[in-house]
Amino acid sequence: MPDTFEKARFATKAVHAGQPPDPTTGAIMTPVYLTSTYVQEAPDVHKGFDYARSNHPTRLALERNLAALEEGSWGLCFGSGSAATHAVVTMLSAGDHVVACNDLYGGTYRLFTKVMERFGLKFTFVSTYDVAAVEKAMTPQTKLLWVETPSNPMLLVSDIKELARVAKAKGALLAVDNTFATPFLQQPLTLGADLVVHSTTKYLGGHSDVVGGAVVGRDKALFDKLKFIQNAVGAVPGPLDCFLVLRGTKTLAIRMEKHCANALKVARHLVEHPEVALVHYPGLPIHKHHNLARAQMRLAGGMISFELKGGLERARRMASSTKVFSLAESLGGVESLIGHPATMTHASIPREERMKAGLTDGLLRLSVGIEDVEDLTADLDQAILRSLEPQAAV
Ligand SMILES: *Cc1c(COP(=O)(O)O)cnc(C)c1O
Repeated sequence: MPDTFEKARFATKAVHAGQPPDPTTGAIMTPVYLTSTYVQEAPDVHKGFDYARSNHPTRLALERNLAALEEGSWGLCFGSGSAATHAVVTMLSAGDHVVACNDLYGGTYRLFTKVMERFGLKFTFVSTYDVAAVEKAMTPQTKLLWVETPSNPMLLVSDIKELARVAKAKGALLAVDNTFATPFLQQPLTLGADLVVHSTTKYLGGHSDVVGGAVVGRDKALFDKLKFIQNAVGAVPGPLDCFLVLRGTKTLAIRMEKHCANALKVARHLVEHPEVALVHYPGLPIHKHHNLARAQMRLAGGMISFELKGGLERARRMASSTKVFSLAESLGGVESLIGHPATMTHASIPREERMKAGLTDGLLRLSVGIEDVEDLTADLDQAILRSLEPQAAV
């Protein structure tokens, strides 16, 4: 990848990598090339672009930008994070086994158990922060170790370096879903992971206006396999979507700093609140993986989960009572969101499995935005008060 910004620091790469001025006009912003095909000089003589499912200039700019941010040598973009996840597991064949973390994005669990199992893949879900448990779950058929860290919604932290060592020893690939952390907070490839997967819908896009996904790696053979799948399956993003994510990554560094600073303040505020029973945030010293998070991540991220005293009904009442935090699925946008995982993002996981992972019916999840933090804590306080009133709307 010939790119002036390959060796630059993070925020500089975020603004520039993969995006030289448009060669035909000098436009500083990568154009949204609305085209499905490209004129060839002679049969199979062209400028590297022959058909837009296979190769697309706006998409290529984003793929190069994401590769640079993750310290990878290539990136491949997909129509959603789920499509990116699907592409990775599509490299496997019937009979292959996958070990995955048991506290993961609900849609990933659904894809693995409801779709891929029908095609003969086998999955074992374990607590990937317990490296010995991962080692024990791996069999000679295990081809892939799938990890989300920090996890969703319990914000548990898995040791990427250790898991890379275990995967390598067993001849399996390590894929890390880096959606929650973003490359600003951690770069799994530099810790030994083989593949990084993103839902660019979240922090990379950052403005809740696009759905997209990506896979980033270093190994050429993995690129060839995934590039083949990207083209053969065809779950590619449109050019405007790629443009929006590119615009998002330009401000990733400053947004993440603010998300993290706000989240730390909100987490500290909740810990002090007499009506709050439990707070899960890796940036708090009381979090059981705080030291690992400090070693592995630049900052602790923008996601928090917590439990009120009083369980399900109070949690639902609180989630319906916030005014600055919007009640919505998703995360990672500039605006703050509140969610109730048991009935929203994680409803597709059977209750028994959820309970095993500590995901109780009373758990609430916050995606802390970049608003003024005093407005966020005040909003949570008033919603907690309202959750105490039995007549409040549910
Ligand atoms: C949202 C999300 C996904 C799925 O991405 P989509 O873009 O919604 O398909 C995967 N992993 C994590 C951690 C997510 O938050």
